Amino acid sequence: MKQISRIALAGVVLAALTTAAQAGPCLTVILTGTQGGPSVFNGQAGAGTLVSYGDDSNNCGAMKLQFDAGRGTNMRLSQINVTPVQLRAIFLTHIHGDHTEGLPDVMMLRWYLKGPKIDIVCSADAVSTLGFTNSCRNYVSHIADAFLQSGEIAERRSEDSARLAGGPADLANVVTFDPKEERQVVWSSGDVKVSAIRSTHISGHASYRVDTPAGSVVIGGDASNDVPAPPRAHSTSDQVERLANGADVIVHSTIHPVLGPDRGSGFPAQSFYRQSLASDLGAMAKRAGAKYLMLTHLAPSLGTARHNRWNVPGGALTEADYRKAVEAGGFTGTIIVGTDLTTLRLPAK
Ligand SMILES: [Zn+2]
Repeated sequence: MKQISRIALAGVVLAALTTAAQAGPCLTVILTGTQGGPSVFNGQAGAGTLVSYGDDSNNCGAMKLQFDAGRGTNMRLSQINVTPVQLRAIFLTHIHGDHTEGLPDVMMLRWYLKGPKIDIVCSADAVSTLGFTNSCRNYVSHIADAFLQSGEIAERRSEDSARLAGGPADLANVVTFDPKEERQVVWSSGDVKVSAIRSTHISGHASYRVDTPAGSVVIGGDASNDVPAPPRAHSTSDQVERLANGADVIVHSTIHPVLGPDRGSGFPAQSFYRQSLASDLGAMAKRAGAKYLMLTHLAPSLGTARHNRWNVPGGALTEADYRKAVEAGGFTGTIIVGTDLTTLRLPAK
């Protein structure tokens, strides 16, 4: 009898060891918001991407990195059972509101729940050609001023003194870097390394690359070509292309050619040219050798006949319209036309 139970126990131990050995590294890329630009359509959340890394035993969830945090980020995270406390770091591509409006909400809840300090990684102050300063550091250091002024921070702190006196801003460890022409590592932890590169959209815009043993993901943000308008070789960023070389996944904001100045929508040419065309992204993803291209921040959104204040020539676009544009660029990998909470897993299950 003893002999049998010993054999059974050995079997259980062997099975456990086998499971541990099979717990391979994995990552997920989840679009927490896909709205492009300041307007809102049909409940879409503002731009953001959650990259989550781990192994099979924790459902790829050991380390959660948020890239941009547009309107409604907290709502989308709640739908996948992620609380702000679980985020390990937040990276911002630029300080336009459609990429940052959700950050006060995320930080306020993290503060309320008494989460630990968090790295918020972004560009150092950058002066635009018109002389304005884009300051991520200022944005974050004033992230909850209204709640300080209203008295809420003091009141909630009186209920629990473990909450920091300065409110959510006190939780933020702002890590800034000067975006360069070549990629530089701006954050790392264990097996995970995040690099950044300068890219063109507004001053201080940066694009990121996450490298993990399960694969690599590039977050292009709203990057476009340094040449602000045609004639130019393509609308995409040469820096992002270098950053994406050999990456598995490219997540990128995009605009459809239908909003171009030649199509009569009235959409401002300057805004059109500072985004990457879906067709050019297809060509870039092909040159970079990416396996997956995830389109996000779609302009126009799927299914709307109006983009912001302008009519979409020919009417609302479908997923097939974006897919066709990417294919026209020659990309033969997997095209994902993003909607909120679209999820990609590496390796695929
Ligand atoms: Zn944007």
